[in-house]
Amino acid sequence: MPTNDAARSNGLEPNSTPADLALPSWQAAVKNAVRDPAELLRLLELPASALPPPARTAFPTLVPRGFVARMRKGDPNDPLLRQVWPHAAEVAPAEGFSGDPVREQGLAEHGVIQKYPGRVLLIASGACPLHCRYCFRRDFPYQTQLAARADWSAAIAALRDLAGVSEAILSGGDPLSLSNRRLGELIARIADTPVTTLRIHTRFPIAVPERVDEGLERLLRGTRLKTVVVVHTNHANELDAGVERALAALKPAVTALLNQSVLLAGVNDDAETLATLSERLFVCGVTPYYLHLLDPVAGAAHFDVDEGVGRELIVALRRRLPGYLVPRLARETPGELSKTVLA
Ligand code: SF4
Repeated sequence: MPTNDAARSNGLEPNSTPADLALPSWQAAVKNAVRDPAELLRLLELPASALPPPARTAFPTLVPRGFVARMRKGDPNDPLLRQVWPHAAEVAPAEGFSGDPVREQGLAEHGVIQKYPGRVLLIASGACPLHCRYCFRRDFPYQTQLAARADWSAAIAALRDLAGVSEAILSGGDPLSLSNRRLGELIARIADTPVTTLRIHTRFPIAVPERVDEGLERLLRGTRLKTVVVVHTNHANELDAGVERALAALKPAVTALLNQSVLLAGVNDDAETLATLSERLFVCGVTPYYLHLLDPVAGAAHFDVDEGVGRELIVALRRRLPGYLVPRLARETPGELSKTVLA
Protein backbone atom coordinates (compact mmCIF):
# COMPACT_ATOMS: atom_id res chain seq x y z
CA MET A 1 0.00 0.00 0.00
CA PRO A 2 1.27 3.48 -0.75
CA THR A 3 0.97 4.67 2.86
CA ASN A 4 4.09 3.03 4.22
CA ASP A 5 6.00 3.43 1.00
CA ALA A 6 8.65 6.11 1.42
CA ALA A 7 8.17 7.19 -2.17
CA ARG A 8 4.51 7.83 -1.52
CA SER A 9 5.16 9.80 1.62
CA ASN A 10 7.81 12.16 0.32
CA GLY A 11 7.01 12.18 -3.37
CA LEU A 12 10.55 11.21 -4.30
CA GLU A 13 11.86 7.95 -5.63
CA PRO A 14 12.86 5.39 -2.96
CA ASN A 15 16.48 5.14 -4.11
CA SER A 16 17.27 8.84 -3.90
CA THR A 17 20.93 9.47 -3.14
CA PRO A 18 22.43 12.38 -1.17
CA ALA A 19 23.26 14.00 -4.51
CA ASP A 20 19.54 14.00 -5.32
CA LEU A 21 18.94 16.12 -2.27
CA ALA A 22 20.28 19.19 -4.04
CA LEU A 23 16.84 19.28 -5.52
CA PRO A 24 16.09 20.33 -9.08
CA SER A 25 13.00 22.52 -9.30
CA TRP A 26 10.70 19.66 -10.26
CA GLN A 27 11.72 17.61 -7.24
CA ALA A 28 11.25 20.63 -5.00
CA ALA A 29 7.76 21.10 -6.50
CA VAL A 30 6.83 17.54 -5.54
CA LYS A 31 8.41 17.85 -2.11
CA ASN A 32 6.46 21.06 -1.42
CA ALA A 33 3.16 19.74 -2.78
CA VAL A 34 -0.01 20.22 -0.74
CA ARG A 35 -0.63 17.18 1.46
CA ASP A 36 -3.37 18.51 3.70
CA PRO A 37 -6.93 18.76 2.32
CA ALA A 38 -7.60 21.67 4.70
CA GLU A 39 -4.72 23.60 3.13
CA LEU A 40 -6.13 22.87 -0.30
CA LEU A 41 -9.42 24.47 0.75
CA ARG A 42 -7.59 27.48 2.21
CA LEU A 43 -5.62 28.04 -1.00
CA LEU A 44 -8.84 27.88 -3.00
CA GLU A 45 -10.62 30.24 -0.60
CA LEU A 46 -13.27 27.64 0.11
CA PRO A 47 -14.94 27.19 3.51
CA ALA A 48 -14.69 23.73 5.10
CA SER A 49 -18.42 23.35 4.53
CA ALA A 50 -17.99 23.65 0.72
CA LEU A 51 -17.18 19.97 0.34
CA PRO A 52 -17.98 16.82 2.33
CA PRO A 53 -15.29 16.21 4.98
CA PRO A 54 -12.26 14.51 3.43
CA ALA A 55 -12.13 10.73 3.65
CA ARG A 56 -9.32 9.20 5.69
CA THR A 57 -7.79 6.56 3.43
CA ALA A 58 -4.45 4.86 2.90
CA PHE A 59 -3.95 6.91 -0.28
CA PRO A 60 -2.73 10.32 0.90
CA THR A 61 -3.46 13.68 -0.65
CA LEU A 62 -0.67 14.99 -2.89
CA VAL A 63 -1.19 18.01 -5.13
CA PRO A 64 1.62 20.19 -6.51
CA ARG A 65 1.04 23.90 -5.93
CA GLY A 66 1.33 24.65 -9.66
CA PHE A 67 -1.61 22.31 -10.26
CA VAL A 68 -3.60 24.00 -7.48
CA ALA A 69 -2.93 27.35 -9.18
CA ARG A 70 -4.86 26.10 -12.22
CA MET A 71 -8.01 25.50 -10.14
CA ARG A 72 -10.74 28.14 -9.92
CA LYS A 73 -10.82 29.83 -6.54
CA GLY A 74 -14.12 29.59 -4.70
CA ASP A 75 -15.46 26.75 -6.88
CA PRO A 76 -16.02 23.47 -5.00
CA ASN A 77 -16.93 21.83 -8.34
CA ASP A 78 -13.70 22.74 -10.08
CA PRO A 79 -12.79 19.81 -12.39
CA LEU A 80 -9.14 19.74 -11.28
CA LEU A 81 -10.08 19.87 -7.60
CA ARG A 82 -12.50 17.00 -8.10
CA GLN A 83 -9.66 14.80 -9.42
CA VAL A 84 -7.61 15.22 -6.24
CA TRP A 85 -10.14 15.76 -3.45
CA PRO A 86 -10.40 12.74 -1.09
CA HIS A 87 -14.18 12.66 -1.27
CA ALA A 88 -16.12 11.11 1.60
CA ALA A 89 -17.63 8.68 -0.95
CA GLU A 90 -14.23 6.96 -1.21
CA VAL A 91 -14.87 4.94 1.93
CA ALA A 92 -18.36 3.78 0.90
CA PRO A 93 -18.30 0.19 -0.36
CA ALA A 94 -19.30 -0.17 -4.03
CA GLU A 95 -20.20 -3.44 -5.67
CA GLY A 96 -17.73 -4.53 -8.36
CA PHE A 97 -15.01 -2.12 -7.19
CA SER A 98 -11.85 -3.64 -5.71
CA GLY A 99 -8.25 -2.89 -4.77
CA ASP A 100 -6.96 -4.73 -7.85
CA PRO A 101 -9.38 -3.74 -10.63
CA VAL A 102 -7.35 -5.04 -13.58
CA ARG A 103 -6.06 -8.07 -11.66
CA GLU A 104 -2.37 -7.32 -12.13
CA GLN A 105 -1.11 -7.45 -8.56
CA GLY A 106 1.31 -10.31 -8.06
CA LEU A 107 2.01 -10.57 -11.81
CA ALA A 108 5.17 -8.46 -11.80
CA GLU A 109 8.39 -10.40 -11.87
CA HIS A 110 11.17 -8.02 -10.84
CA GLY A 111 8.82 -5.16 -11.76
CA VAL A 112 8.14 -6.54 -15.25
CA ILE A 113 4.59 -7.42 -16.33
CA GLN A 114 3.59 -8.79 -19.70
CA LYS A 115 -0.09 -8.14 -20.35
CA TYR A 116 -0.07 -8.05 -24.13
CA PRO A 117 2.07 -9.83 -26.78
CA GLY A 118 5.15 -7.95 -27.95
CA ARG A 119 5.01 -5.37 -25.13
CA VAL A 120 6.16 -5.38 -21.54
CA LEU A 121 5.41 -3.03 -18.71
CA LEU A 122 8.15 -1.99 -16.29
CA ILE A 123 6.95 -0.66 -12.95
CA ALA A 124 9.76 1.87 -12.87
CA SER A 125 8.75 3.89 -9.80
CA GLY A 126 6.05 3.91 -7.15
CA ALA A 127 6.10 7.70 -6.77
CA CYS A 128 3.81 10.18 -8.54
CA PRO A 129 3.75 13.96 -8.99
CA LEU A 130 0.15 14.05 -7.78
CA HIS A 131 -2.35 11.56 -6.43
CA CYS A 132 -5.35 11.13 -8.70
CA ARG A 133 -8.22 9.79 -6.62
CA TYR A 134 -9.45 7.52 -9.44
CA CYS A 135 -6.01 5.88 -9.94
CA PHE A 136 -6.34 2.18 -10.73
CA ARG A 137 -3.03 1.55 -8.94
CA ARG A 138 -3.90 3.45 -5.76
CA ASP A 139 -3.55 0.17 -3.83
CA PHE A 140 -0.71 -1.34 -5.89
CA PRO A 141 1.94 -3.01 -3.70
CA TYR A 142 4.89 -1.03 -5.03
CA GLN A 143 7.24 -2.17 -2.26
CA THR A 144 7.35 -5.69 -3.67
CA GLN A 145 6.69 -5.15 -7.37
CA LEU A 146 9.14 -2.45 -8.44
CA ALA A 147 11.67 -2.86 -11.24
CA ALA A 148 14.00 -0.42 -9.44
CA ARG A 149 16.37 -2.14 -7.05
CA ALA A 150 20.07 -1.42 -6.52
CA ASP A 151 20.29 -1.54 -10.29
CA TRP A 152 18.01 -2.65 -13.12
CA SER A 153 19.68 -6.02 -13.75
CA ALA A 154 16.86 -8.27 -12.51
CA ALA A 155 14.22 -6.36 -14.47
CA ILE A 156 16.32 -6.38 -17.64
CA ALA A 157 16.99 -10.11 -17.26
CA ALA A 158 13.24 -10.74 -16.86
CA LEU A 159 12.58 -8.63 -19.96
CA ARG A 160 15.20 -10.58 -21.97
CA ASP A 161 13.57 -13.86 -20.92
CA LEU A 162 10.35 -12.90 -22.68
CA ALA A 163 10.25 -13.77 -26.38
CA GLY A 164 9.42 -11.30 -29.14
CA VAL A 165 9.24 -8.13 -27.07
CA SER A 166 9.63 -5.04 -29.25
CA GLU A 167 8.26 -2.36 -26.91
CA ALA A 168 9.09 -1.57 -23.29
CA ILE A 169 6.53 0.58 -21.50
CA LEU A 170 7.71 2.50 -18.44
CA SER A 171 4.88 2.85 -15.98
CA GLY A 172 4.36 3.21 -12.26
CA GLY A 173 3.61 5.35 -10.31
CA ASP A 174 5.23 7.78 -12.68
CA PRO A 175 8.53 6.79 -14.33
CA LEU A 176 9.56 10.43 -14.58
CA SER A 177 9.76 10.41 -10.76
CA LEU A 178 13.17 8.86 -11.40
CA SER A 179 16.08 11.28 -11.55
CA ASN A 180 17.60 11.76 -14.99
CA ARG A 181 20.59 9.71 -13.83
CA ARG A 182 18.45 6.71 -12.85
CA LEU A 183 16.21 7.06 -15.88
CA GLY A 184 19.27 7.30 -18.14
CA GLU A 185 20.64 4.06 -16.68
CA LEU A 186 17.34 2.31 -17.32
CA ILE A 187 16.99 3.58 -20.88
CA ALA A 188 20.57 2.54 -21.66
CA ARG A 189 19.91 -0.96 -20.28
CA ILE A 190 16.74 -1.29 -22.37
CA ALA A 191 18.55 -0.01 -25.47
CA ASP A 192 21.01 -2.87 -24.95
CA THR A 193 18.22 -5.44 -25.57
CA PRO A 194 16.39 -6.24 -28.84
CA VAL A 195 13.58 -3.83 -27.83
CA THR A 196 12.99 -1.16 -30.52
CA THR A 197 10.45 1.17 -28.88
CA LEU A 198 10.36 2.85 -25.49
CA ARG A 199 7.01 4.13 -24.27
CA ILE A 200 6.71 6.33 -21.20
CA HIS A 201 3.37 6.81 -19.45
CA THR A 202 3.57 9.97 -17.39
CA ARG A 203 1.50 12.68 -15.74
CA PHE A 204 4.61 14.72 -14.84
CA PRO A 205 4.62 17.16 -17.80
CA ILE A 206 1.03 18.07 -16.84
CA ALA A 207 1.30 18.02 -13.05
CA VAL A 208 4.84 19.45 -12.72
CA PRO A 209 5.94 20.83 -16.12
CA GLU A 210 9.38 21.74 -14.71
CA ARG A 211 10.15 18.00 -15.05
CA VAL A 212 10.73 18.53 -18.78
CA ASP A 213 14.27 19.78 -18.32
CA GLU A 214 17.30 19.75 -20.61
CA GLY A 215 18.59 16.54 -19.07
CA LEU A 216 15.37 14.70 -19.87
CA GLU A 217 15.28 16.06 -23.42
CA ARG A 218 18.91 14.92 -23.92
CA LEU A 219 18.10 11.42 -22.67
CA LEU A 220 15.15 11.04 -25.01
CA ARG A 221 17.02 12.47 -27.99
CA GLY A 222 20.12 10.42 -27.32
CA THR A 223 18.71 6.89 -27.32
CA ARG A 224 18.57 4.64 -30.37
CA LEU A 225 15.05 3.64 -29.29
CA LYS A 226 11.95 5.12 -30.89
CA THR A 227 10.29 7.02 -28.05
CA VAL A 228 6.58 7.44 -27.41
CA VAL A 229 5.51 9.64 -24.51
CA VAL A 230 1.89 9.30 -23.40
CA VAL A 231 0.86 12.10 -21.05
CA HIS A 232 -2.31 12.01 -18.98
CA THR A 233 -4.70 14.97 -19.11
CA ASN A 234 -8.41 14.93 -18.32
CA HIS A 235 -9.46 18.55 -18.69
CA ALA A 236 -8.27 21.52 -20.78
CA ASN A 237 -7.77 23.63 -17.62
CA GLU A 238 -4.77 21.41 -16.80
CA LEU A 239 -2.99 22.77 -19.89
CA ASP A 240 -1.80 26.26 -18.89
CA ALA A 241 1.04 28.21 -20.49
CA GLY A 242 3.73 26.43 -18.41
CA VAL A 243 2.47 23.02 -19.50
CA GLU A 244 2.25 24.19 -23.09
CA ARG A 245 5.92 25.26 -22.96
CA ALA A 246 6.94 21.91 -21.46
CA LEU A 247 5.09 19.95 -24.13
CA ALA A 248 6.60 22.14 -26.87
CA ALA A 249 10.05 21.29 -25.49
CA LEU A 250 9.24 17.59 -25.22
CA LYS A 251 7.75 17.18 -28.68
CA PRO A 252 10.95 17.46 -30.78
CA ALA A 253 12.74 15.04 -28.43
CA VAL A 254 10.33 12.12 -29.02
CA THR A 255 8.91 10.12 -31.91
CA ALA A 256 5.29 10.54 -30.82
CA LEU A 257 3.54 12.58 -28.14
CA LEU A 258 0.08 11.27 -27.20
CA ASN A 259 -2.50 11.84 -24.48
CA GLN A 260 -4.71 9.48 -22.55
CA SER A 261 -7.65 10.57 -20.42
CA VAL A 262 -9.99 8.82 -18.05
CA LEU A 263 -13.70 9.51 -18.45
CA LEU A 264 -14.66 10.92 -15.05
CA ALA A 265 -18.05 11.96 -13.75
CA GLY A 266 -18.09 15.64 -12.86
CA VAL A 267 -14.75 16.26 -14.59
CA ASN A 268 -15.03 15.60 -18.32
CA ASP A 269 -18.24 13.64 -18.95
CA ASP A 270 -19.71 16.04 -21.50
CA ALA A 271 -18.95 16.59 -25.18
CA GLU A 272 -18.08 20.28 -24.84
CA THR A 273 -15.39 19.58 -22.22
CA LEU A 274 -13.89 16.69 -24.18
CA ALA A 275 -13.88 18.64 -27.45
CA THR A 276 -12.17 21.59 -25.77
CA LEU A 277 -9.59 19.20 -24.29
CA SER A 278 -8.81 17.68 -27.71
CA GLU A 279 -8.48 21.11 -29.31
CA ARG A 280 -6.22 22.37 -26.54
CA LEU A 281 -4.07 19.23 -26.75
CA PHE A 282 -3.68 19.85 -30.48
CA VAL A 283 -2.48 23.40 -29.82
CA CYS A 284 0.08 21.88 -27.41
CA GLY A 285 1.26 19.42 -30.09
CA VAL A 286 -0.29 16.36 -28.44
CA THR A 287 -2.51 13.80 -30.19
CA PRO A 288 -5.54 12.48 -28.26
CA TYR A 289 -5.09 8.71 -28.01
CA TYR A 290 -7.30 6.92 -25.49
CA LEU A 291 -10.34 7.91 -23.44
CA HIS A 292 -10.47 5.15 -20.82
CA LEU A 293 -13.54 4.04 -19.01
CA LEU A 294 -12.80 4.07 -15.30
CA ASP A 295 -11.15 0.94 -13.95
CA PRO A 296 -13.34 -0.15 -11.03
CA VAL A 297 -10.90 0.58 -8.25
CA ALA A 298 -12.21 0.75 -4.68
CA GLY A 299 -12.70 4.36 -3.61
CA ALA A 300 -13.45 5.73 -7.09
CA ALA A 301 -17.05 4.67 -7.74
CA HIS A 302 -18.19 8.30 -7.58
CA PHE A 303 -16.23 8.93 -10.81
CA ASP A 304 -17.90 6.13 -12.76
CA VAL A 305 -19.56 6.94 -16.11
CA ASP A 306 -21.75 4.43 -17.90
CA GLU A 307 -20.29 2.83 -21.03
CA GLY A 308 -23.34 3.90 -23.06
CA VAL A 309 -22.70 7.53 -22.12
CA GLY A 310 -19.07 7.11 -23.21
CA ARG A 311 -20.15 5.79 -26.61
CA GLU A 312 -22.58 8.70 -27.09
CA LEU A 313 -19.82 11.17 -26.21
CA ILE A 314 -17.55 9.71 -28.90
CA VAL A 315 -20.34 10.03 -31.48
CA ALA A 316 -20.81 13.67 -30.42
CA LEU A 317 -17.06 14.31 -30.71
CA ARG A 318 -16.99 12.80 -34.21
CA ARG A 319 -19.66 15.28 -35.27
CA ARG A 320 -17.67 18.29 -34.17
CA LEU A 321 -13.97 17.38 -34.48
CA PRO A 322 -11.68 16.07 -37.24
CA GLY A 323 -11.03 12.33 -36.81
CA TYR A 324 -7.46 12.85 -35.61
CA LEU A 325 -8.74 14.72 -32.55
CA VAL A 326 -11.21 12.02 -31.45
CA PRO A 327 -9.71 9.64 -28.86
CA ARG A 328 -10.57 5.94 -28.83
CA LEU A 329 -12.94 4.93 -26.07
CA ALA A 330 -11.37 1.90 -24.40
CA ARG A 331 -11.71 -0.42 -21.48
CA GLU A 332 -9.13 -2.74 -19.94
CA THR A 333 -10.54 -6.20 -19.30
CA PRO A 334 -8.39 -8.51 -17.17
CA GLY A 335 -7.07 -11.45 -19.19
CA GLU A 336 -7.77 -9.91 -22.64
CA LEU A 337 -4.84 -9.78 -25.10
CA SER A 338 -5.37 -6.07 -25.75
CA LYS A 339 -7.48 -3.19 -24.53
CA THR A 340 -11.06 -3.37 -25.80
CA VAL A 341 -11.75 -0.41 -28.08
CA LEU A 342 -15.46 0.39 -27.68
CA ALA A 343 -15.83 3.36 -30.03
S1 SF4 B 1 -3.07 8.19 -12.37
FE1 SF4 B 1 -0.86 8.18 -12.72
S2 SF4 B 1 -0.10 10.08 -11.74
FE2 SF4 B 1 -2.19 9.72 -10.99
S3 SF4 B 1 -1.85 8.61 -9.06
FE3 SF4 B 1 -2.13 7.05 -10.68
S4 SF4 B 1 -0.10 6.50 -11.42
FE4 SF4 B 1 0.05 8.43 -10.23
